[in-house]
Amino acid sequence: MSKRPFIVDIKRGSLEDGPGIRSVVFFKGCPLRCIFCHSPETQDPQAEVIFSAEECIRCGSCVDACPEGAIDLDLPERIHRELCTRCGRCASVCPGKGLRRIGSYYPSETLTEILLRDLPFYRHSGGGVTLSGGECTLYPDYLESLLTLLKARGIHVTLETSGYFDYPAFRKKVLPYADLIYYDIKIADPQLHKRYTGRSNRKILTNLRFLLQEKGVKVHPRVPLVPGITATGENLSEIIDLLREAGARDVSLLPYNPLGIEMAVILGRPKPPLPAGFMKPDEEREIVTLFGRLLQERGGRSSTSRRNMGPVRLGARLSGA
Ligand code: SF4
Ligand code: SF4
Repeated sequence: MSKRPFIVDIKRGSLEDGPGIRSVVFFKGCPLRCIFCHSPETQDPQAEVIFSAEECIRCGSCVDACPEGAIDLDLPERIHRELCTRCGRCASVCPGKGLRRIGSYYPSETLTEILLRDLPFYRHSGGGVTLSGGECTLYPDYLESLLTLLKARGIHVTLETSGYFDYPAFRKKVLPYADLIYYDIKIADPQLHKRYTGRSNRKILTNLRFLLQEKGVKVHPRVPLVPGITATGENLSEIIDLLREAGARDVSLLPYNPLGIEMAVILGRPKPPLPAGFMKPDEEREIVTLFGRLLQERGGRSSTSRRNMGPVRLGARLSGA
């Protein structure tokens, strides 16, 4: 795995990725291959080129620039991916956004400098920096260097993780700097987990158990809702049982996000067989009601809350305590 992480995006002013106003860094590279990933451009650790037909003016500059002869103006997906070496020359000559290269490297000092531009917003709102992905924990050495710099300025740090990481390296190099960890739990059944994410969930659940024993960090499990895959009564009740057994005290449901479907297509990958639209409010209500009922059957309490802006976050206490 690459030691120098590529970064897909730095989102400033987020109100959805932890407390207060935050800057969110999306790292490229993930050990999972969830078919329902809402940002498939973050899965591959290497830089990639995406093609958007709506943005292309058919000037032909990319054809001339490509040293591999991989570009064909008559091909709907434009790039013969089997020939492409991802050199990015086509994207660099494109006059618009027909072709774009995804993934840039920033030394940790440079990234810190960028993130500190919003320091006043963090201070006034109780916000900070969130490291997301992809899977940011793929890069423990880089994170140690970045987080040392951020913590020296007193920045609150949130991590968003799939939980699939090497625990000793994470514990040594990342955990000491994390204030809050959003920990995604997708599917309880190991076989189904492997089928839909490419990996068993054993490591994820073991790491969660370890993490919930650690002092000085808040760990908040989240379940992304995907109709017919994660958002089923069977899966949700099994997840509640797993989380209670692991010692989790609360959990959130994340609304279904179909935006990865279009991105998969412009990355030149097969279109994932998923619902094309967001869940309707009554569908969300139905699943929240079901989740609340499952919790109550297990002695927990449920409550829902809506943030000021952004997607709905549906919180539920896992225990009556
Ligand atoms: S990234 Fe390089 S090899 Fe791939 S299509 Fe563009 S110019 Fe050609
Ligand atoms: S360089 Fe950009 S705008 Fe021109 S043909 Fe290629 S993708 Fe289209």
